[in-house]
Amino acid sequence: DAKCAGKNRVAYYDENVISTSFKRLDLEKNMRNATRNAFDEFEVYYQPITDISKPGMPCSGAEALIRWNSRELGVISPTEFIPLAEYLGLINPIGSFILREACMRCKYWNDMGHPDYKVNVNLSVVQLLQNDIVEQIAEVISETGIDPKNLTLEVTESLAINDMNRMKKILADIKKLGVRVALDDFGTGYSSLNHIREMPIDVIKIDRCFIIDIGKDDFSNAFVKMVAELASAIDVNVCVEGVETKEQLDILMGSKIQLIQGFYFGRPMTAREFEEKYL
Ligand code: C2E
Ligand code: MG
Ligand code: MG
Ligand code: MG
Repeated sequence: DAKCAGKNRVAYYDENVISTSFKRLDLEKNMRNATRNAFDEFEVYYQPITDISKPGMPCSGAEALIRWNSRELGVISPTEFIPLAEYLGLINPIGSFILREACMRCKYWNDMGHPDYKVNVNLSVVQLLQNDIVEQIAEVISETGIDPKNLTLEVTESLAINDMNRMKKILADIKKLGVRVALDDFGTGYSSLNHIREMPIDVIKIDRCFIIDIGKDDFSNAFVKMVAELASAIDVNVCVEGVETKEQLDILMGSKIQLIQGFYFGRPMTAREFEEKYL
């Protein structure tokens, strides 16, 4: 699986590889325009997250996932444009747009009879390292009126976690707002079990690379079970990403896993589609 193989990506764009490419110049020009034009080429999609620990396996909310439909270039994957946005310094305005949009949406769901629906928003390390990130999040919470316990911020382990003490402090300050923190893509990149112990996290999201082979590969099976046991012992929730089949779900049902996200339950969809299905 190409996406899984390329997962150990660096947080920052490799300038040498792309500086000469016309594609990169094109992307850059179009991205700058798109952020100037009120973000109208960007749309936040929502992928349902299912609570398999409850009877009937209800939807517990969604992860917000950005989509860029460029007028000139067509649909561009976030795995392609998020790293470039980080490199160009455009991730902060784009990230603020996503956070506000997702909190607004979730507040609406909560008001429409689903007070417990939660929204997960990805925060890039570049965003986290802004001096006023806590104030920015506080402002979005107060402007949108979302109950902070319904907002989960997903952070990815990366080289920037090298400065563990700084990251711990930032996450602790963010958590004082009452929001939850999830460790995204766990098991890939720079993961370390020490992060689980050291970081003030509420949820571990196991990367879908471990789910692809679950049932076929002993390591993946054992890894998922181990993380679930460990997390349960320290009162951290586990969300498994990338569940596509009933067979994969069945294997996970017996373990200490609460949350499932994957095509089996639903693909990322527009807010309108999400609301037609789950409100
Ligand atoms: P992620 O945060 O780990 O998001 C999960 C990705 O896995 C999404 O890809 C989702 O569509 C995909 N996925 C979920 N279930 C399945 C499944 O069953 N099978 C398969 N094959 N894929 C599944 P997407 O939307 O392309 O996003 C890719 C990555 O781009 C995200 O990974 C995240 O790192 C980044 N990203 C997306 N939206 C944002 C955003 O708003 N802000 C930031 N900073 N990063 C974002
Ligand atoms: Mg995520
Ligand atoms: Mg992930
Ligand atoms: Mg990710």
